[in-house]
Amino acid sequence: MGRLDGKVALISGGARGQGATEAKLFVREGARVVLGDVRDEEGKQVEAEIRATGGEATYVHLNVTSEADWRAAVDTAERRYGQLHVLVNNAGILIRKSIEETTEDDWDRIMAVNVKGVFLGTKYAIPAMRRAGGGAIVNISSTAGLVGNPYGSSAYTATKGAVRLFTKATAMQHAKDNIRCNSVHPGPIDTDMIRDTLSEPALREERLNRIPLRRIGRPEDVAYGVLYLACDESSFVTGSELVIDGGTTAQ
Ligand code: NAD
Repeated sequence: MGRLDGKVALISGGARGQGATEAKLFVREGARVVLGDVRDEEGKQVEAEIRATGGEATYVHLNVTSEADWRAAVDTAERRYGQLHVLVNNAGILIRKSIEETTEDDWDRIMAVNVKGVFLGTKYAIPAMRRAGGGAIVNISSTAGLVGNPYGSSAYTATKGAVRLFTKATAMQHAKDNIRCNSVHPGPIDTDMIRDTLSEPALREERLNRIPLRRIGRPEDVAYGVLYLACDESSFVTGSELVIDGGTTAQ
């Protein structure tokens, strides 16, 4: 028996990295998955890989800053698979610049993807989840949403802090609808997002020195946490923060 048997999930940013890993894990656990991204070729490839294993997945073009795209993605989930039970707001971008280097355009762009994207996804998933009798929303924040960091990604930090508290607002407003909402706070995870620093030996070593478990996280490390928050095992958990960072923020 799968931990997500009978569930339908929508995952943003599902074309690669953590989102693609979550899509594959969710399907292995019995879910039917709609994955959305702006990287259409990679997204269709993930869809094909899942279908090749006999799983159910549908890729949709979803720019998370677009209200129309979100409406269409939720509609696809309901029309193809009947209902929507789980939303993972995973899509995100990183702009690694100091405050003084950050342009107004940079600020607006990262706020649009990382914050407005989460708001819009939540807004359009909630009515569908109500129709399904309840649901679970998992928002991917970061350790950058909990504490400051020295890596010069100030705007990114602001977006991830916003996601952390928007999660709690959602949890409070929609507990009455049996819709839970929790945030996940990964430390450095080995994906394309931070591959530039990980492939630089000195920077990688500096990162490792700050992690008590002395390794960079894998997408699977996060995906299993997201799975827990998405499935009914966490039915009494809402408004909480799951930190997956090798101990970094415990110091
Ligand atoms: P990634 O860059 O591999 O994946 C991010 C995905 O989001 C990509 O597929 C990208 O195309 C998609 N995306 C970007 N803009 C989009 C848009 N406008 N609409 C739809 N999709 C869009 O990186 P990842 O590590 O898999 O990131 C997943 C999430 O985890 C992000 O929210 C990120 O901020 C967060 N996170 C990452 C790390 C890390 O070290 N990798 C650490 C903490 C949190």
